[in-house]
Amino acid sequence: MKFEFSERLNKLPVYLFAEIDKLKAQVKARGVDIISFGIGDPDLPTPKAIVDILKKESGININQKYPSYEGLLKFRESVANWYDKKFDVSLDPETEVLSLIGSKEGIGHLPLAFINPGDVVLAPDPGYPVYKAGTIFAGGVPYTMPLMEDNDFLPDFSDIPADVLKKAKLMFLNYPNNPTSARADRHFFNETCKFAKENDIIVAHDFAYSEVYTGERGNDSFLNAHGAKDIGIEFHSLSKTFNMTGFRIGFAVGNKDILKGLGAVKTNLDSGVFQAIQLAGAYGLDNELDTIRDNNIIYRKRREILVAGLEELGYEVYKSDATFYVWAHVPRIGMTSKEFAISLLNETGIIITPGSGFGDYGEGYVRFSLTINEDRIREALVRMGL
Ligand SMILES: *Cc1c(COP(=O)(O)O)cnc(C)c1O
Repeated sequence: MKFEFSERLNKLPVYLFAEIDKLKAQVKARGVDIISFGIGDPDLPTPKAIVDILKKESGININQKYPSYEGLLKFRESVANWYDKKFDVSLDPETEVLSLIGSKEGIGHLPLAFINPGDVVLAPDPGYPVYKAGTIFAGGVPYTMPLMEDNDFLPDFSDIPADVLKKAKLMFLNYPNNPTSARADRHFFNETCKFAKENDIIVAHDFAYSEVYTGERGNDSFLNAHGAKDIGIEFHSLSKTFNMTGFRIGFAVGNKDILKGLGAVKTNLDSGVFQAIQLAGAYGLDNELDTIRDNNIIYRKRREILVAGLEELGYEVYKSDATFYVWAHVPRIGMTSKEFAISLLNETGIIITPGSGFGDYGEGYVRFSLTINEDRIREALVRMGL
């Protein structure tokens, strides 16, 4: 029997990394020691105290059962307290906080709650691929908002045609940004809010890197903008904040009616987050702020080493102090980002991510992830010719 994928699966953008994955296996088979700047997954460990809570709580019978759909009240209270402490945003833990099985899960499911076939979803490009994939799964039409370096990788809303705006129901944003590492400020979020209200568009801000920054200035929450809670929600994750990518825990906060829609989708598809993990996460939010500072000191050191080395090698690097990514121009004229990534892997055994993997407007750039240690970064620079 021949199995045909659904139209929605066939509509997904092509997976650009397949060729690189194959080449990686070949290079490895040659005995080359691969250095990977490819993966956006922290190498640093989850704080021991968080793991200890998970161990303890997983042995308790009540936590071994189905969790509640919207999340443990204890976890949602910790989220609300953390938002108050960190961003000066007050949230009702009962109605304005929803637990997620990682923020990717919530981002992917949100369009199912609000998008009808043919509705437009505004998505940044380059961007996290889930914004467009979730849109396509819901029958929506992604509309690309280009993020250009001369506008500090912020979208220009005035470029969006009126007929697109009329059909637009939802907009995804992500700052600090993966892959560009750009940040947004309160002024931009205020403008976003105004624009979204005028055009009846829901704003979903992906704040996965809120705690990953190395300068003095912290990151503004989208919910700090005037009236943000009237039209938007913010996605958050413990993955990057506490090195907990494998645990699968995140949350969404903000407008209670939008969260109600997302919650209704989830109630029909999943059964919530393992309670022991929610309690471990709550402990992190309540107590583990030092981890964030310590991680950021490590990322800063790595960034300094990599950026200085790349510049010496002739790369033009976008300057930022947020996320654990370095976004740089392809240093070889006439090569696409994918061609460059392939040749670098072939010649040196180093893996980087071609910008075109994040969308058409990522072409011309490559992304380095700072999730390997200083020695490995130095060794990579040597292999690259430093
Ligand atoms: C890592 C990442 C996420 C999601 O992480 P989860 O582990 O699913 O919480 C979301 N958005 C961006 C931009 C990311 O890079």
